[in-house]
Amino acid sequence: MFADVIIDIQHEKLDRIFQYRIPEKIEAKLEPGMEVIVPFGKGNRRISGYVTGITETCDYDLSKVKEILEISERGMEIETRLIALAAWMKQNYGGTMIQALKTVLPIRQKENAKVKKRLRLLLDKDTAERQLHYYLEKNQKARARLMAALLDDPVLEYELVTRKLNITRQVIRALEEQGVLSLETERVFRDPVKKAEGVEKEITYTAEQQRVIDSFRKDYMSGGRGTYLIHGVTGSGKTEVYMEMIQTVVSQGKQAIVLIPEIALTYQTVMRFYRKFGSRVSIMNSRLSAGERYDQMMRAREGSVDVMIGPRSALFTPFPDLGLIVIDEEHEPTYKSEQTPRYHARETAVQRATVEGASVVLGSATPSMEAMYRARRGEYRLFEMKNRSRMQQMAEVYTVDMREELKSGSRSILSRKLLELMADRLEKKEQVMLFLNRRGYSGFISCRECGYVVKCPHCDVSLSVHRDGIMRCHYCGYERPKVTVCPECGSRYIGEFRAGTQQIEDLVKERFPGAGVLRMDMDTTRQKDAHEKILSAFANEEADVLVGTQMIVKGHDFPNVTLVGVLAADMSLYTGDYRSGERTFQLLTQAAGRAGRGDRSGVAVIQTYDPGHYAVKTAAAQDYEAFYEEEIRYRELMGYPPVEHLLAVLVSSGEETLLEKGCHYLKAYILRVTERLKKNAGEAVEVQVIGPASPGIDKIKDIYRRVIYIKSENYGALVGIKDRIEQYIEINSGFNKIRVQFDFDPM
Ligand code: ADP
Ligand code: ZN
Ligand code: ZN
Repeated sequence: MFADVIIDIQHEKLDRIFQYRIPEKIEAKLEPGMEVIVPFGKGNRRISGYVTGITETCDYDLSKVKEILEISERGMEIETRLIALAAWMKQNYGGTMIQALKTVLPIRQKENAKVKKRLRLLLDKDTAERQLHYYLEKNQKARARLMAALLDDPVLEYELVTRKLNITRQVIRALEEQGVLSLETERVFRDPVKKAEGVEKEITYTAEQQRVIDSFRKDYMSGGRGTYLIHGVTGSGKTEVYMEMIQTVVSQGKQAIVLIPEIALTYQTVMRFYRKFGSRVSIMNSRLSAGERYDQMMRAREGSVDVMIGPRSALFTPFPDLGLIVIDEEHEPTYKSEQTPRYHARETAVQRATVEGASVVLGSATPSMEAMYRARRGEYRLFEMKNRSRMQQMAEVYTVDMREELKSGSRSILSRKLLELMADRLEKKEQVMLFLNRRGYSGFISCRECGYVVKCPHCDVSLSVHRDGIMRCHYCGYERPKVTVCPECGSRYIGEFRAGTQQIEDLVKERFPGAGVLRMDMDTTRQKDAHEKILSAFANEEADVLVGTQMIVKGHDFPNVTLVGVLAADMSLYTGDYRSGERTFQLLTQAAGRAGRGDRSGVAVIQTYDPGHYAVKTAAAQDYEAFYEEEIRYRELMGYPPVEHLLAVLVSSGEETLLEKGCHYLKAYILRVTERLKKNAGEAVEVQVIGPASPGIDKIKDIYRRVIYIKSENYGALVGIKDRIEQYIEINSGFNKIRVQFDFDPM
């Protein structure tokens, strides 16, 4: 017998299958997925590899085939099913088997045991309650919040408190000095939070929730598996529904994975799962070290947990008997990997579920075009939840046409309607969020005389001017002093345009001198913990207005916010890619959803130069159906995903002329392949080749970039072309200094 073995070396050229003879003594034990030690190279170095298959025949000269030495001592018996998933990913998204395996398999890494800290409440319940009231009276909000959390659960993980509860070190230290809590350190961290006793609230599900829960249970208990899409407005109670579904699966002795975008993985959300599932829940996030991740994965593998919650990579949790994968905020672009293999968590989850006999539940207030398209075609089962679970009203939305503002003599970035509402809210001591689709003090520098734009010499993007008078590149960090004379024509009419978050901050301070203003953008969050500090200050109502970019829109609940202003709503419409309408709609809908999360109803003001654009109009009307209809017509007309499929072949090199030549040959080759394909398959397969084109940015950190697009209705045809390209560049040494990557249905 022979084994196909993949050698785990970080060299892509070594990414091929090697065959080894299986010695008799391990023949009965060896299975695909196992890690083995094999002799390699001229010196027969001992190295490890993964068995990807076992065969009876050998494709090579028998006399040269070496023998497996042993099954790896590390004893990592890797799930065969995960290796199969890796093979599927390699096939469908491109890249090497090693890259796919590294994405899918838990990789053990050596590191020193990290010291973990915990907070323990030292007071009894009554004293603690009294202390809580004292803090509330004194208006010490952070202390009150920490106290309330400790009352729920007397032992809290330090990181959880500082990161998710937004409590600063100073506050913890103060409470420690008051004898309220103690700081404990521990070597290993096994059981992050104990099940909080008796705090699981009894809730009566709404009719909408109950219908979804019942349908799922009925399917599941009768052995039915599939993919479900829950289209439910923000606050409709989707998370409650997920938890009930998980309960169904767990009660059958199976496990569940819950994917939540990292930014939405808030303390509140985490606590809700802990309350329901106690220590059978494990949380994964990017702040865990590689060793901690591995530890979590192993706990899952041993069967010590039933539910894994985390961002994209939690999808590969090696559960012994996976029953359900939930993907919350399914439309988020972070579910698409930016590294090879550029997989999408949604499709990969469906594939994994199929292999393992599990179901998939997708949820969103603004489902992706992909998910809704498939639901409409009957591939997914669709559930609608149109009402907020606690009967709160959706926010009222006003659209302000900024062109009209200008015509009537108002030149301010903040419209009169918005200023008027802000004055009213600030008067009532309510909070306001202002969201801008841009960063920095202002935009690019250009010459009004000749049109010259100051660009980064390495990245082909315009430099932005910052307050300190320095122009910076947002891709590579290149900086130079602000120019006052046009380098092209010598004119002095050169300067910056457009508003940035800093400018808005200044304006608000000027208009409302009494108001406290916080700003959150790339500049103010450069330092570690800055993010948390700003959010915690706003949550503590230390400021009245929060000005920020994209990052303030998602995941955070501020019950006292009753007004949200969206400035330059249409900026995201002109990013030059086919998803810009979809993104704008999602962003605006989410922003509007930020207003009125508490008891008071909210108002959103959308300022735009293009109020007639369907993405803006339908978002203002909070009408998903209308948006979908319009958007899918556009995708159909243009042949864009999800109606057709698009393969972006990304080609890059440090040498520009080499890149040009490479692209030329590559395109010619792709055209030959598609011709042959058409001939063989008859008329059925339509394939279109576009480019080589600019990927938007022609150069990053001195690496030149081009892209060739291949479009087809037939995903399989694109996969076939990808395979051929991989072979072609493998055997042509001209491509040694050119990097070729694949991105299917790019985001
Ligand atoms: P979504 O995930 O759709 O935004 P959540 O599940 O987070 O909605 O629910 C929003 C809020 O409403 C949460 O605080 C949740 O506990 C509460 N909630 C959900 N369903 C009900 C219900 N049936 N009765 C009372 N409160 C509910
Ligand atoms: Zn000029
Ligand atoms: Zn640059």
